[in-house]
Amino acid sequence: MKADVVIVGGAVMGASAAYWLTRMDPNLRVRVIERDPSYARAATALSVASIRQQFSTGVNVAISAFGIGFIRDFQASLGHDVGVPSLGLQENGYLFLGRSAEAPQIMADHAALQRGLGAATEVWSPAQVAARFPWLKVDDLTAASFGPRDEGWFDNMGLLAGFRNAAKAQGAVFATGEVTGLRYANGRVMAVELASGEALACGAVINAAGTRGAVIARMAGLDLPVEPRKRTVFVIDAPNARHPDAPLLVDAGFYLRPERQHWITATVPNDDGPCDANDFEPDLHLFEDVIWEQLYARAPGFDAVKVVRHWVGHYDYNTLDQNALLGPHPKMANFYFMNGFSGHGLQQSPAVGRGIAEHVLQGGWQTLDLTDLTVGRVLTGRAFAEQAII
Ligand SMILES: Cc1cc2nc3c(=O)[nH]c(=O)nc-3n(C[C@H](O)[C@H](O)[C@H](O)COP(=O)(O)OP(=O)(O)OC[C@H]3O[C@@H](n4cnc5c(N)ncnc54)[C@H](O)[C@@H]3O)c2cc1C
Repeated sequence: MKADVVIVGGAVMGASAAYWLTRMDPNLRVRVIERDPSYARAATALSVASIRQQFSTGVNVAISAFGIGFIRDFQASLGHDVGVPSLGLQENGYLFLGRSAEAPQIMADHAALQRGLGAATEVWSPAQVAARFPWLKVDDLTAASFGPRDEGWFDNMGLLAGFRNAAKAQGAVFATGEVTGLRYANGRVMAVELASGEALACGAVINAAGTRGAVIARMAGLDLPVEPRKRTVFVIDAPNARHPDAPLLVDAGFYLRPERQHWITATVPNDDGPCDANDFEPDLHLFEDVIWEQLYARAPGFDAVKVVRHWVGHYDYNTLDQNALLGPHPKMANFYFMNGFSGHGLQQSPAVGRGIAEHVLQGGWQTLDLTDLTVGRVLTGRAFAEQAII
């Protein structure tokens, strides 16, 4: 059997790439191989599913600028009625809190960059924060930045289903299977080996294997600085804190956003490091020991809190610079990467899928220049400095 393009991993990145490839070339034979079509442990399914324009680099802002339009008018963007009319975008904004002396200037610089690319970011004084969200304590703040539009949260599984169904309608084939090896020679991948024993000859391969992206790279003798990192997410009930218009709040040691009548919150553990790709044991102590004290100090309405649910997801953490690693590998021209999203991949999937498809079909970035994020930087060790990583 032969495919023009084999995509390893059929969650949001693989499905987006399949969608864009078959939209741009309906005759292309695209085969997506997914080891677990329930997606139970895919980051896509375990995501907090939020989108923001508040990044510190132009390319990440531009990626989200495309993403928000695509997500807002999802069915029209897809060009198909695939049973996902809307992703229920809740456009409450992100509020980043700053406490340092430098924060007002840094936030003003970032806001200027974002506004130049179409965002609406506002930089606020602590008094402005208190006026808009009186339930927050602001005495330790020096500044805050808020996105009054184009930021919020949406239906992650709807996004995946939409890409997947539309890609199938356009002719992409999704198959259940595990990729266990790559056959390559003279700087090109020739075939993909499956656990079933089958070998699939291909013209190009796309690595969309999430936290297992480095395993796939190694099958072609390549190193990828991506590892799974555990994030425990808590859904909490706080009866004295009902603020449905609340933004996604990014504070020094945690983030928080409303989730219907409850709240979602999480932190980065102090001893953050790689975990086993199969380790989904929650770090339950993080809520009591790390988050709650800081949350209560910021918002006294969180005095009575009950954890009603929790889950563990893994970031596909890029240890070089916590940013996407994209495009063909310099040592293997027909092996494309969409990896290392480090906690902001869901919102990037529309633009990154389009970019990868353009690169596969036309040999370079077209609509949006993604050069800053090319995977080749792992060979030089040159980090891409994005300061707004959560
Ligand atoms: C707790 C948490 C919160 C997050 N919050 C946000 C957020 O608010 N906003 C945002 O934009 N992003 C967020 N992210 C990040 C975002 O969810 C991910 O970047 C994105 O979903 C990555 O998609 P993916 O398709 O690359 O990877 P995944 O969703 O992990 O999918 C990879 C797929 O590859 C398959 N696979 C792996 N190996 C093989 C193999 N050998 N053969 C076949 N298939 C294979 C897997 O089964 C899996 O389905 C969050 C992530 C987590 C964990």
